[in-house]
Amino acid sequence: MYSPKQKPPRRTLILVLGLILMLSAGCSAAGGGFLEPEPRKAVFPLPEQYTGGYTDDWGATRPQGGHEGTDIFAPRGTPVRSITASTVVDGEESSEAGWNTLGGYTVNVRAANDVGPVERGDLFYYAHLRRSTALEPGDEVEAGDKLGEVGSTGGGPPGTREAGPPHLHLGWYTASEPDQQAESGARNPYPLLERLRLNGGSFTVQPEGPFS
Ligand SMILES: [Zn+2]
Repeated sequence: MYSPKQKPPRRTLILVLGLILMLSAGCSAAGGGFLEPEPRKAVFPLPEQYTGGYTDDWGATRPQGGHEGTDIFAPRGTPVRSITASTVVDGEESSEAGWNTLGGYTVNVRAANDVGPVERGDLFYYAHLRRSTALEPGDEVEAGDKLGEVGSTGGGPPGTREAGPPHLHLGWYTASEPDQQAESGARNPYPLLERLRLNGGSFTVQPEGPFS
């Protein structure tokens, strides 16, 4: 019951509505891109030329028991990087300056997110560092940020350098229930280091969702 005069405006209205719908759909798609969680990164803890300086020495005999970590050999002073985005925490058995009788100068960090096999809250223990770190508990670091330098400290009171040739002792302790690997919750870092090395020193993972 419409006169021909009314038809054109109605068609225009439908076109305009359609256009608005298309535009808003496009906008929400583009907006969704901004909400998309950023890929999470893991990096090898030493520069590329030292990515081969380790073996699977997990469980190797040490004076204090089975070796709970991986030793990565590199010259004194080589920068040590955080494997994942993390928060610096106090070491349970370390002094305020980060000194640990066995580990020498250490930095302890907890992973900020799940990254591949690393779970949010996992503790990484970087030991035998050349000197006391300038980082403080609560400091946040990104994957690849410098934590300290390779050294040989440890094996006695603060300042002792009896940990053998300069190397990074990397320890990895799960935030969830300790598995069969070690009562302490230690996990063998070797497979993680191998994944990083074989992937050119780093890998990224897309988180499963904004709430993961
Ligand atoms: Zn070690």
